[in-house]
Amino acid sequence: MDLVRKNLLGWYDAAARDLPWRHTRDPYAIWVSEVMLQQTRVETVIPYYRRFLESFPTPRALAEADEDAVLSHWSGLGYYRRARLLHAGVREVVDQYGGRVPEDAKARRALPGVGRYTAGAIGSIAFDKEEPIVDGNVTRVLARLFRIDTPVGASATTTRLWEEAARWVRGERPGDFNQALMELGATICTPKQPRCASCPVADACLAYASDEVDVLPVPRVRRAPKQVKLAAVVATQGRGADRKVWLVKGDQPLFGGLWGVPMSEGKARSALSEAGLRAKLGTEPVGQVEHVLTHRRLRVEVYRASAARGEESAVRRRFTLDGLEGVGISTLTRKLLAVALGH
Ligand code: SF4
Repeated sequence: MDLVRKNLLGWYDAAARDLPWRHTRDPYAIWVSEVMLQQTRVETVIPYYRRFLESFPTPRALAEADEDAVLSHWSGLGYYRRARLLHAGVREVVDQYGGRVPEDAKARRALPGVGRYTAGAIGSIAFDKEEPIVDGNVTRVLARLFRIDTPVGASATTTRLWEEAARWVRGERPGDFNQALMELGATICTPKQPRCASCPVADACLAYASDEVDVLPVPRVRRAPKQVKLAAVVATQGRGADRKVWLVKGDQPLFGGLWGVPMSEGKARSALSEAGLRAKLGTEPVGQVEHVLTHRRLRVEVYRASAARGEESAVRRRFTLDGLEGVGISTLTRKLLAVALGH
């Protein structure tokens, strides 16, 4: 194991990509990067990470920011729940620990939004602790290295992966070791056509030895996404440069706390009334938007409504189209506004 570990670290030192979060040991910056990198590609994350840390360079700066400002920095990254949990977690760090991310693993794990993976990434990279991490890349590498042939996501698989990762992280440079595993998965041990001939741990790889690289890891058993039909109403008030659009902030999981166009699983009229708006509603939809989320495939019919009226509140507001720039809105909302208003 020592030799395999050494080979992997040696390869990482020579081949690792130069990524902005690899220049810091600041646990807060590493936390931000790890949350952004969940389910999002490295190239996409880089500009978001830079902008986010420019605006919120410290835990205190983020804790003091209001949610809209935080979400607007996340707009386009998706999975907005991550941003809200990061915000909540950092606020707790400021309230409970004077703005210093706790070194103690248990305290870190108790923070909102910090699961085993994020805690391990912060612990190993920022604090040099022998804490394991298992993400999609690490799963693929370990499943192949140890020839784990149970499906990804099954509890036996998860337990085994974390055990192997915990065993392997022990030793020098645990943070670099974890990053090396992820880097190997991202650049060499890729889902399709892994480059085994250039792999620093090929000698120890059981899948390579048994010619099973192509069939490992065994994919998770997936349920088909549920189809959902929705009606969305882009309700405006005023004309020309004075035109404003009404958006709502609901507890709908679709929006994750962002401002969005009123929508309903019923008729367009219901979308308006559920949003507490009165307006002149068009009789026919002006277009349709398809939007795929992790577990749902949405087909949204888009209606226009004019002369909209309602009372502004914490969950219902009018925005000028230019004013939407600084507001957290989801990709779906952008699509709906584009169809209805050409914006
Ligand atoms: S030998 Fe191939 S399958 Fe095994 S870890 Fe290396 S790249 Fe992955």
